[in-house]
Formats: sequence, C-alpha cells, structure tokens
Amino acid sequence: MPTKKRGNPKSIRWKWGFLLSIAFFLLYFLSALLMLNVYKSYQYDQQKNEAENLLYSVQSALSEIDTKLSVNSVESMFEKISVSTVTKGLQSVGNYPFLEDLKSRGANIRVFDTDGQLLYETQKSYTTFIKNPDTYLRETKLNDLEAFVAGGPILSQEDSFLLGYVQIVFRLNDYHKVVSQMTQYFWLVTALVLVLSAAAGYGIAFYFFRPIKQMVDTMDAIEEDTLSETRIKISKSKDEFTDLSVHINGLLDKMALYVTQQKQFVEDVSHELRTPTAIVEGHLKLLNRWGKEDPQILDESLAASLTEIQRMKTLVQEMLDLSRAEQVEMHYKNEVTPIRNVVLHTFHNFKMLYPDFVFNLDDDLSREIYVNIYRNHFEQILVILMDNAVKYSTDRHEIHLSISESMSYVQIAIQDFGEGMSQEDQQKIFSRFYRVDKARSRNKGGNGLGLSIAKELLEGYKGDITVESVLGHGSVFRIQLPILKNYVPDEEL
Ligand code: ADP
Repeated sequence: MPTKKRGNPKSIRWKWGFLLSIAFFLLYFLSALLMLNVYKSYQYDQQKNEAENLLYSVQSALSEIDTKLSVNSVESMFEKISVSTVTKGLQSVGNYPFLEDLKSRGANIRVFDTDGQLLYETQKSYTTFIKNPDTYLRETKLNDLEAFVAGGPILSQEDSFLLGYVQIVFRLNDYHKVVSQMTQYFWLVTALVLVLSAAAGYGIAFYFFRPIKQMVDTMDAIEEDTLSETRIKISKSKDEFTDLSVHINGLLDKMALYVTQQKQFVEDVSHELRTPTAIVEGHLKLLNRWGKEDPQILDESLAASLTEIQRMKTLVQEMLDLSRAEQVEMHYKNEVTPIRNVVLHTFHNFKMLYPDFVFNLDDDLSREIYVNIYRNHFEQILVILMDNAVKYSTDRHEIHLSISESMSYVQIAIQDFGEGMSQEDQQKIFSRFYRVDKARSRNKGGNGLGLSIAKELLEGYKGDITVESVLGHGSVFRIQLPILKNYVPDEEL
C-alpha cells in the first residue's frame, strides 16, 4: 500500500495558500511602497520650498543693510530678526530667535563680501562658495544625506547695488527624521503584514478547499475498508463542491451496495450449489459402495443425480441471464418488439403446454404496440411470470392474461388463483434466491432467480414490475413498459 503523504506541501491547498499569501502581501507591499514614496517626495518638495523661502527672506533681510556688508552689520542683523520676520510666507513658529531656529532646522547661512571673502557663517561648513550672479538652488549630499545648497547675490534695497553673496546649506533634518521614522514603521508593518498575509492566505485556502480534504480523507477510509460507512460531510453552503460531494457520496453508496450484493450473491450461489452437489455426491458414494449391484437403486440414483445436474445447469443459466440482464441498457438500445404479437404468441403456447389450465386473454389494444426491448427478453419475462402462475396455482387452474395501454405505457397483467403470498413476502420475492417456501419451490424446480431476472430486465428497459397478492387466494403480477411513439416498422415503410 502506498504511504500516505498527509499535509503534502504540493497539495492544492498549500499551493493556493502560498499564492494567496504572496498576492495579499504584494498588494500591501506595493501600495504601501507607493504611498511611502509619494509621502517622501511631498516632504522633499516642502523642504525645497522652505529652503527657497529662507534664502529669499535672508536675501531681503540683508538687503536692508544698504551699506557695505561687514561682520558686525551682518551679525547684528541676524540677532535683531526673529523667525516671524524672516520666514515670510512660511508658517511662523512664534517669536523664536532666528539663529536658534536655524540650528534646529539644520540650516547654515554664510555671507560673503563682493570678493567672495567669508564674512559670517552661522555654523562651520565645508561647502565651497560659488560666486553666482543669479540665485540658485541645487541638491547635494552631506554625510550621505540629501541637502540643498542655495545661494545668490545680496542687492541693496535702494539701488540694487551688489552688497555681497549669501549661501544657505539646508540639511533637511526634519525630512530625514520623518522619512527614517516612516521607513522604520513601514518595515515593522511589512513584517506584521507578512505574517498576517500568510495566516489569511493559508486560512482562506484551507477554508475553501476543506471539502477536498474531506474527500481525500473519505477516500482514504474507503481504501482501507471498502464497506466503511464514512461519507463526505455535506456543508450547508450550496456550491460546486457540495454538488461534487453529493455525487461522490451517491457513488460510494452505490459501490457499497454493489459490493454487498456481490458478496451476498457469491454466498447465495455457493449455498445453492451445495445442495445438488451433496445429493449427487451422496448417490455416487452409495453406488460406489454397494448400490450398483442393485439395479433399482442404480436406476433411482442415476435419475436423482440427473435431476440435480439439470437443476445446476438451470441455475448456471439463470445466473448468466441475471448478469446479462444488468447490462441491457448498454447492449440493446435499438431493439424493438411488437408487444401484442409476443403476448398472443406466449398465450397460445401456454394454452398448448398446459391443457388442464384455463387461460383467458383480455386484450384492450386495437393495434400493435412497439416497445424498445429485445424480443427474447420480453418473451423471457412473460414466460417467468406465466410459469410462476402455473407453478404456484393450487386447486383452481385458471390464469388471466391482460394487455392494455395507459398514458405512454403498455401494461400486462398475469393473474392466478393459487397460493398467493403474505404482504411481507411480496416485498422480498424480487430479491435474488428468495423463495417463500424453499423446499416447495425447489420441488417445483425453482431457484428463486426468475423474478430477479424479470425485474432486472424491466428496469434495464425503463419499465417496472409490481405484485398484488392475497395469501390463499392468488396473485396478480403487473408489468409496464414505455411505448415507443411514432415508430413505423420496416415492412410498413
Ligand atoms: P422460483 O424459481 O422459486 O419461482 P421466482 O423468483 O420466480 O423464483 O419467485 C420467487 C418466489 O416468489 C417463489 O419461490 C414463490 O415463493 C413466490 N412466487 C412467485 N410467483 C408466485 C405466484 N404467482 N404465486 C405465489 N407465489 C409466487
């Protein structure tokens, strides 16, 4: 037996779990990454704006000096102004000393005279001075972090006379702080989402593919024991899996029934064969010991053995018929039989065979009726029922045969006035090998297979058989078969 691989990682549930987890995770990751970048570039632009505004404000503040720039004049100007005066257009943070504010923002201001000589700087800085007649702003890197360097001339307010140059180094401190915090959060949440996506992905996959797991478990149980009563649990949600589960359960039920029937059949057959075999064996032993010396015993034993052999032959033939009757649907799809003709034919045959019986025919049909059935099979059904009617008749030797049409079915009834049977027996007589009185039926040459064959054949042709009987008064067997509509036999064409 192959070893079972439970929780096989290649199983569809694991595959889907993995795919769903990846999908959830990617969905989150890409959108979060996008948002982070949008946020970063927004912050970056804000900082750029701030740098530009700062430069502009410092330029206009220094332009008020109006005389030649000196270390003292610049220093005293910077000490005089406060944030609210300088950061025009920027959000004011209150009357906060300008120089302290610069520090906290990571900005550094350098002022040069017209020759490019450094006059003043708020912090030590190593950036080079660019003598540029126009205002500029460019990006640079300080200690591997983005920063802005902005600068331009300082022109006197009165007559736009060149006083000197200013340069701002803007370190983007706030920006880097916020971005690094955001990035930290981003990775933290990413780790959390990774776990959650895996849980959600596998959870959903396991939930949706639960029926498959149940199917596999059920198959495992059936594989171990063919007659196990384990079935797939049918969930309340009506989906394709529910349909499939219902179908599989139906098939398993059929299979279990089939296996039980087969087992029962083999048991019954061996049981049925045991009696005739034992009888023949008994006779042969008797003859072997001394019986052959006595002509009378010899005759009797041979006759009895022949009867038993004949019985076995019939039994084998009937079993063969039964097995073939199970396959009519496949092999006799196109067979057509004129029903009325066969009924009349059988009726006359029985009349001839049993002259001491009175046979009545009640024919309600005014025309021939065609049914999709193989002629020999239909004859076989009629003969089984007529034979039984004769076999189980008692004092009143009378049999009624009737044929009629109702809706789209043809109905044939065979009635006798013999021993009849109890309600309980009526339920069982169509089962294989069932006989009401085993010994009596055996004496009459019955194996208990006739009605099973008839029923099996009729069901194969979409017909059916029923019985109505009163113990001690007789029985009526009714069969019906679907009429073949619009059928025109070859000779009439
Ligand atoms: P058998 O070969 O024993 O007749 P069947 O399958 O034809 O087998 O019938 C099963 C049993 O049903 C018979 O053994 C008999 O007891 C009962 N049965 C069948 N037909 C009749 C009938 N017309 N009247 C009374 N009992 C019947």
